[in-house]
Amino acid sequence: MRTLHEWRDAGSFLFVSPHPDDVELGCGGTLATLARAGAEVHLAVVTDGRLGTRDPLRMPDEIALIRSKEQQAAAKELGAKLRMLGLPDGGPHDYYRLRDRAVALIRDVRPDYVFVCDPYLPYEVHSDHRMVGLAVSEAVLLAGLPHYAGGSGAAHDTEGILYYFPRRATELSPLDEESLARRRRALACHRSQFGRDDQYLERLEAQLRHYGSTAGAIAAEPLHLRRRTELHIPDPEGMEE
Ligand SMILES: [Zn+2]
Repeated sequence: MRTLHEWRDAGSFLFVSPHPDDVELGCGGTLATLARAGAEVHLAVVTDGRLGTRDPLRMPDEIALIRSKEQQAAAKELGAKLRMLGLPDGGPHDYYRLRDRAVALIRDVRPDYVFVCDPYLPYEVHSDHRMVGLAVSEAVLLAGLPHYAGGSGAAHDTEGILYYFPRRATELSPLDEESLARRRRALACHRSQFGRDDQYLERLEAQLRHYGSTAGAIAAEPLHLRRRTELHIPDPEGMEE
């Protein structure tokens, strides 16, 4: 597993989150690290998170508004320029419209690398995650084709994708104390989703600290790098899988 990464030196990144909080959970520390290093970092949140409650007395419009404010605060902590695309949490989503939205986004932001959730997790049942992961992956391929008119804007090639919540990590992205602290503060902004001493967040951080011991850092986030040329009928040269 790699811990020294050429993608860390790139100048522009697009992070795509199916819901408010996914990027913070999956790779918030890496986002903070890149922003601190001076990279241009964009965060696009696809859905409005309106289903994010188990309380039947709280209305979806209210939840969406709260989560939008939480997401704005979290993006500020991490140093990302935020776009909320406002699609309905839980769908229904039309795959091709989602893909073209992603093509337009990539052509507008023109990033070197795109971060998105891994759509190939075998037991991920949430279609927002599977569809956003896949639509963004295909958009990385199509955004560079000048005659592809499904998304507005001039063609743009990215170097590749970094999948967070990966089925199999190829990279451990090391975090220092400050990036870990920013990740923690960004997650704390999502007050409607996580309690003050949330056990899930504690277990997640313990796992990142464990990865850190392998990566020679206090913590590390697991990622799967897929270069653009490894997304379609790949060249067997250098492919692990
Ligand atoms: Zn999510």
